[in-house]
Amino acid sequence: MTCHLPPFRRSQPEVRSGGLEPPCLRAEPDNTRGMEAAPIDALALWNDLLARVGEQVPFYRDRLGRRRLIAQEEVAELPFTTKEDFRSAYPFGLLAVPRDQVVRVHMSSGTTGKPVVTAYTRRDLELWSECMERVLGFAGVTTADVLQNAYGYGLFTGGLGFHIGAERLGCLVVPTSSGVTQRQVMLMRDLEVSVLCCTPSYALVLAEAAGEGHRGLQLRVGLFGAEPWSEAMRREIEAGLGLEAYDVYGLTELGGPGVAVECHRHDGLHIFEDHFYAEVVDPESGRPLPPGAEGELVLTSLRREASPVIRYRTRDLTVLTDEPCPCGSPFRRMRKVTGRADDMLIIRGENLFPSQVEALLLEIPELTANYQLVVDRSAHRLDTLEVRVEARRRDGLQDLAQEAARRFRDAIGLGVEVTVLEPGALPRSEGKARRVIDRRELG
Ligand SMILES: [Zn+2]
Repeated sequence: MTCHLPPFRRSQPEVRSGGLEPPCLRAEPDNTRGMEAAPIDALALWNDLLARVGEQVPFYRDRLGRRRLIAQEEVAELPFTTKEDFRSAYPFGLLAVPRDQVVRVHMSSGTTGKPVVTAYTRRDLELWSECMERVLGFAGVTTADVLQNAYGYGLFTGGLGFHIGAERLGCLVVPTSSGVTQRQVMLMRDLEVSVLCCTPSYALVLAEAAGEGHRGLQLRVGLFGAEPWSEAMRREIEAGLGLEAYDVYGLTELGGPGVAVECHRHDGLHIFEDHFYAEVVDPESGRPLPPGAEGELVLTSLRREASPVIRYRTRDLTVLTDEPCPCGSPFRRMRKVTGRADDMLIIRGENLFPSQVEALLLEIPELTANYQLVVDRSAHRLDTLEVRVEARRRDGLQDLAQEAARRFRDAIGLGVEVTVLEPGALPRSEGKARRVIDRRELG
């Protein structure tokens, strides 16, 4: 079995609107680089993976035995792995190599239960840095760039993941980690930083701190990930920092960022299929869905040694397309993730994603992307939703609140209480923002 990679097709990129330097004036990234070799033999990678986990990981041995695949379709018969499986295996229950071969661990915090641990051999770190170098290459980063890495360094995969990729690529790395926002802005200016890496929430904080001063910055590219963000948020960040924003996708269970990234077309994220096997399944039945159908993304890490994972239920909703991309990349694309099944709120029977709220708020120019949703249950056991959002101005807040509430009613049919606050009233996030406060669980 080989992956059916779409043929290469090279064409001139379109000029994007928005006042930024059009990508066609810069060197176009070569997204076919390193892919001229033989097509990916996914079946061989699958069988190697199944042999490794069958031998080393009791969890998988119990479920899979010594299974081998003879056709790609059989992947759909393999059991899923879930976040709960990771938590029950804490810390090293899913390890597929002897402990003395592990050279690093990362983990995700998670507000409830045990953290999710992912481990790396020396080879895993090499492969990860290759993927992260490729991520930066898709965004057009070169050795001439100065890259400020404001993802948190530490147990979180973002900081060190971007760090090793950028060092491998050979640009100048400024490892600020997150926080100390004024210093971040000062360094961006003084060191003529051209590439910024951080969460989209923190990018907004940096834009706010830079204010009009962002025009003195040299930023041209930003790589943002680790939380879902909307197209409205993209416009906000691009305008606020004067850069072109790229979405990067990854998750701790799969080893961190470096699973997928946008190309300069910004029309979906290319999945690195030589490392990760992607499926979209019906979230209810678990059955695979055809290209073009929306469902839950399921990922398998084909090459990771220490912490391989088979058919991980990401809880992220997306659509896969095998339409060729004009950028030339042979990798299939997934639609930008703007809703994580875990984040979906069910309010009075209506499904609502925080990103939908974000997009609606940003339709009103006087409102910002600094918002918080407070879900509660009234004395009559009825769910209530309060949207708290900051304005760009200090007057006329009541009118703005009425306007926003009207838009919510029209767009999603929900009666929502909107509270518009003065600039600076809500807490700022240096990493992943806490957008939802659900008080129903407490009551
Ligand atoms: Zn592309």
